[in-house]
Amino acid sequence: MPDADFPRDVFRVTAEPRSSPSAGVSELHLRPSAYRELFEYASDAYLITDESGVIRAGSQAAAALLGVPCHALEDSSLALFLDRDAQRDFIGKLSALRNAHARSRWLFRICPRNGAPFDGSLTATAVHRPDGSLVGLRWEIHDIAAEHHLEEAQHFLGEASRALAGTHDYYEGLATLAQLAVPQIADYCLIHEVEESGHIKQVSATAASSEKEFMLRELAQLKFPDPADPRSLLANVLRTGEPVLFEALPPEMAASVTAEPRVLEILEALAPKSLIIVPLKARGVTIGAISLATSESGRVYGEHELELAEELALRGGMAIDNARLHLTAEKASLAKSNFLAAMSHELRTPLSAIFGYAELLHDEIVGPVNAVQKEQLGRIRASGEHLLELVEEILTFARMESRQERVYPEDVDVAELVDSACVLMEPLVLKKGLRLKVHAPDAGVRMETDRSKMRQILCNLLGNAVKFTDHGTIELVARLDGGRTVFEVTDTGIGISRDDLDHVFDPFWQVEQSATRRVGGTGLGLSVARQLARLLGGDVIAESTVGQGSRFVVLMPGAK
Ligand code: ADP
Repeated sequence: MPDADFPRDVFRVTAEPRSSPSAGVSELHLRPSAYRELFEYASDAYLITDESGVIRAGSQAAAALLGVPCHALEDSSLALFLDRDAQRDFIGKLSALRNAHARSRWLFRICPRNGAPFDGSLTATAVHRPDGSLVGLRWEIHDIAAEHHLEEAQHFLGEASRALAGTHDYYEGLATLAQLAVPQIADYCLIHEVEESGHIKQVSATAASSEKEFMLRELAQLKFPDPADPRSLLANVLRTGEPVLFEALPPEMAASVTAEPRVLEILEALAPKSLIIVPLKARGVTIGAISLATSESGRVYGEHELELAEELALRGGMAIDNARLHLTAEKASLAKSNFLAAMSHELRTPLSAIFGYAELLHDEIVGPVNAVQKEQLGRIRASGEHLLELVEEILTFARMESRQERVYPEDVDVAELVDSACVLMEPLVLKKGLRLKVHAPDAGVRMETDRSKMRQILCNLLGNAVKFTDHGTIELVARLDGGRTVFEVTDTGIGISRDDLDHVFDPFWQVEQSATRRVGGTGLGLSVARQLARLLGGDVIAESTVGQGSRFVVLMPGAK
């Protein structure tokens, strides 16, 4: 049973049965197929050694970390990759491992064959057979500084995300992003945006020293870089959408990208040593770039920093895209509100004229009219009033959308408020042969609110209740609940399905679409009612059962 006594994990080792108690190392036969893939692709450094620390196999990442080709790992002693002073200590620890059943983690200075020494953590797990004998040792090696870098990078990216999410003003977000980058990952940072006209606009410039920051700003005045200049590194990144990394910029670089004397002077004073330019993209389109450079710190950028910069650009690009979409949507919404407001206003003027003339005729100011004509004039008036209500509704909606609706709070008697809404609705209720039941607190119970807005909310809800009920009763209840005043409008009408209930407060939304509708309306009543309620610090909620009826509950603060 070669495999059965070994834990079922990725480092499976096939051990032959022990021929003698001292068979130890020679019996450790590793089966490459079981872990080859993992070793090839694992990003972590894994090793398998025998009990004396001789390497039997290792992942590519381990070979890279120890500075040797993968095949050269085998049969080398792990101790030889440690600092000379630590080797004896390591050998001592190894013997203690033989009987250990838990994982042990040690910190050692690791000396790769190729490359600079680094502080590493070695985590060892002894693999035993059920009879307790040792099969081998499993190792994970980490470069602590690299891990520390990773933690720092994650922290940095987290901060950047928060900065970008915290504002709708993406220029502000990008400025914060540049400020975070300096000095954490750059000595200076520039962010450029491609404008719709194709011009490159510098939207943010931050440097570790104010002198350099001043120079960066001056570059923007000097229109550097020029998007049309083929020598411009930034323009190339913007054109190709590919990031660039210059680990070490030659001093003559400045002269190779510009011939303009003042720009040259500034570039030479900035003295970039290492440079990364990453594109900012939104839905695949390059919309700008982040340039990170080191100078006085002498720091040299590598793949690690490039990856970090790309992550940063990903977040920056998404933030710009979101902010731009938000801006476009807001503009469109404002345009719609302005259009509605203008239209409604234009409709109100001729409507007033129609009212006026109908009234003149009705009151026989310009001559006698008979009973039939009077009745018809009454219909003109009723239709005009209805039209005016619709126009008023659209106007209120437009004002709410453009945040122009003002609140005029006053001391309101709840019973009076309920009464004033019912007076307006009663004719409609009677006309449809319905019953209206009203329960209001006694006179003297008051609330602090905007009277006409509150009345409009109740009228909208009562109007709907009447519109969508053919038989039965409409009920309006007003009551106090703690510090709140609660109004409930209940009907015995057609009801609203669960799915539709999620949309009834959306503007212009109607269960039955206009072509098939039997009743009129703009689809704004509930939206306006809820927006008004929220403006007054309350809310409107709905519950309903199809075929049985609906209940709309208005919860308002300000009960006295
Ligand atoms: P409108 O009444 O002008 O169509 P609203 O915003 O007031 O617009 O209502 C949106 C939709 O919600 C209505 O078209 C209707 O389909 C549904 N609705 C609203 N109130 C009721 C109700 N009491 N009973 C049944 N359906 C209702």
